[in-house]
Amino acid sequence: MDINLYLKELTRQEKVALVAGTDFMYTNPVERLDIPSIRMSDGPHGLRVQQEKGDNGTSRSEIATCFPTAATTACSWNPENTYRMGLAMGEECRHYGIHVVLGPAVNIKRNPLGGRSFEYFSEDPYLAGEMGIHQVRGIQEKGAGVSVKHFALNSSENYRFMGDSVADMRAIREIYLKPFERIVKEAHPETLMCAYNKINGAYCAENRWLLSDVLRREWGFDGLVMTDWGATHDRVKMLKSGLDLEMPGDTAICRKWIMDALESGELDEAVLDEAVRNVLTMVERHRHDERGEADFDAHNQLAQEIAKDSAVLLKNDGTLPLSVDAELFICGDLFERTRYQGSGSSMINPTVLSSPRSAFDAHGVKYTYARGYRENEIESDEVLIHEAVRASEGYDRVLLFLGLTDTVESESFDREDMRLPDNQLALVEALLGAGRRVTVILYGGAPMELPFADRVDAILNMYLPGQGGGEATYALVFGGVSPSGRLAESWPMTYADVPSCEQFGRVKNEIYRESIFVGYRYYLTAGKRVRYPFGYGLSYTTFAYENMTLVEEGDRFVIGCEVTNTGARAGAEVVQLYVGMPTENVFAPTRELRGFSKVYLAPGERKCVRITVKKEDLRYWNIPEGRYVLAGGEYRFELCSDCETVQQSQSVILTADDAATPYTEGVMEIYRSADAGRMSDGAFSEMSGLTIPEENPIKPIHMESRLSDLKSTFMGRILYRTVMLVADFDMMRAKRMPEGVERDNKIKGAIFMRRILDTNTLITMSMAAGATFPYNIAEGFMHLSNGKILKGLCAICRGIKAPKLPKERK
Ligand code: BGC
Repeated sequence: MDINLYLKELTRQEKVALVAGTDFMYTNPVERLDIPSIRMSDGPHGLRVQQEKGDNGTSRSEIATCFPTAATTACSWNPENTYRMGLAMGEECRHYGIHVVLGPAVNIKRNPLGGRSFEYFSEDPYLAGEMGIHQVRGIQEKGAGVSVKHFALNSSENYRFMGDSVADMRAIREIYLKPFERIVKEAHPETLMCAYNKINGAYCAENRWLLSDVLRREWGFDGLVMTDWGATHDRVKMLKSGLDLEMPGDTAICRKWIMDALESGELDEAVLDEAVRNVLTMVERHRHDERGEADFDAHNQLAQEIAKDSAVLLKNDGTLPLSVDAELFICGDLFERTRYQGSGSSMINPTVLSSPRSAFDAHGVKYTYARGYRENEIESDEVLIHEAVRASEGYDRVLLFLGLTDTVESESFDREDMRLPDNQLALVEALLGAGRRVTVILYGGAPMELPFADRVDAILNMYLPGQGGGEATYALVFGGVSPSGRLAESWPMTYADVPSCEQFGRVKNEIYRESIFVGYRYYLTAGKRVRYPFGYGLSYTTFAYENMTLVEEGDRFVIGCEVTNTGARAGAEVVQLYVGMPTENVFAPTRELRGFSKVYLAPGERKCVRITVKKEDLRYWNIPEGRYVLAGGEYRFELCSDCETVQQSQSVILTADDAATPYTEGVMEIYRSADAGRMSDGAFSEMSGLTIPEENPIKPIHMESRLSDLKSTFMGRILYRTVMLVADFDMMRAKRMPEGVERDNKIKGAIFMRRILDTNTLITMSMAAGATFPYNIAEGFMHLSNGKILKGLCAICRGIKAPKLPKERK
């Protein structure tokens, strides 16, 4: 039916129902008018189609292919991988009747401790954008829609529900919004999901500048914007700002707020109609979606292939690849209890799972094994360590499996430090101390400090390789494939080297003082040594670069070169094009990634590589002018094998656009050298033109208070404990289960639940829980915590008078 006709036919109550979700993963249907509901499923690296009552990731879901997580696929530097993975996910959507996938997640990794680093692609906006664009294209080509998330500046987890990301407009435009901008313009996603946090004081869900001025008017987005689950604050303001669909919905208070605002004239019905129109456009697009077959075997193969193409060889003294004939000594719990994905809303129930152990066994590898540590614990176990050292006697080499575990890395909390768990560190030291030669195989979603890096023979980093991780590990360790992944993020020496290390994850209002100096942009410019640079990765073969060309063709530059595989094995090289811009009047990183190309080469083979860069992509965001501007002077085009290693280089001189000088002398002096130590609040304010917001006192408790803040009052403590019983109960039930994967996953779910509750706010909890924790009860909690007993009890008993949902009227 024509959407205009629907708008005429729908009652106000039906419209209000349509702009909210229901039952966690659906939109509201209106049967009277034959409007079906849309069904969604988490992403981003596979489907989490919920079986039981929907939730954020603790209950069981249908089996689906668990692909490597974004942190991993980005290291393949091959967008074809996310495209093919997208096609496979699209096929699985048809199999399960899913209309919209909640992903990809393309936020920039500002700090390696970010709890969702494993779900995000990169610290670089170009790389994140490329991978995201191709995943969106893949999924949407199969007919399903996507929700690109989390729009925007969601960098940390500890304060994600109420935190304010305070950043200058240049960093926002050039770094944090860039992947979203490119995906919107080049891949036309059906929907976007806004982040929980604020940007410069305004929640993303009610940020008119973000959702209307930039997204719709500037970028031309014509799809739907939904909230993250529970990211609702002022529903009326959200509608006026351009936010269409509130998820997961079932919130009587939002229906009441909208109805009241329509009644009083505060909200123009045309504004509501616009949101309804966007919902109906999505419904119409999927009305005739048909169920189809999914080839889960082929998808499993694909998951394995991508994992092989993504692993990064960090160090190798020639030890790797190993020979299949030698008897090995293998150590480390992650060999058996493999870590292949992260915890939280993206946790997939894989169709099959290959651990390194099952893959090694299937291929007949001969080995002796010692556990060495328990992956679900942190404290070292002297007995296990002792057993491992003793069992390794007689072997000169140990293949040691290490990594981050779900206890230290998950959605809903930021990591506390960049270390590996203590029990693993103690094991490495014990083995090295006993004179063993160690080869490390690493798992985990983000950079780690590697204090043993100089003392081990080789390090192969598998990241989180998905359900085919074991097979991929086998192929890479024994040389079936040559590693060809390159880091999509810098690996600093220690956490103290990270420019945002002082505040990150510790305060509600995070000041992005480092501006555009994120990741390698900072380390290169500040001259800080890192353990492994962005773009870095070794191979079992070697490559040579020759004959660089740089040609101006209209509005773009075309850069070419020849790459030869000079070694004896097949392998792939990632040719990375960086550009360094002139910095007379504008501070800028030493070089920035502007293009790349991965070439697969047989031994001795040579190929020509061609990379194009649009001139407009060389511009910087000029804050006083409020637009992109080209600086004048010399631009260095550098073909690199990682961000520190220039292979070939040429320059061009470009004429400046006419524009105001963006920075004062003082700002230039501090920021030109990317000296994080001098980027004070004052320097940031002068550079950005922003005022640093005050941190609000914890008391009195309000609706935006963190649940853990309730502990600051007597009554609040009691309420906090009561809520936490939910997580305690989950943990108790999980621990009673028989040993096995199911139990482990339930335990991880319970840890996730505890942290998500702890970091939640009263309002977000209520908006995410819908009918089970309605707004009036959350208000009651607030009053009770502030010692206003009567007011609290009245709020709890009051209830909310709101129009019923279509499903409630049956
Ligand atoms: C997460 C989203 C996810 C949603 C639904 C939220 O808590 O931030 O990424 O898609 O839950 O599970």
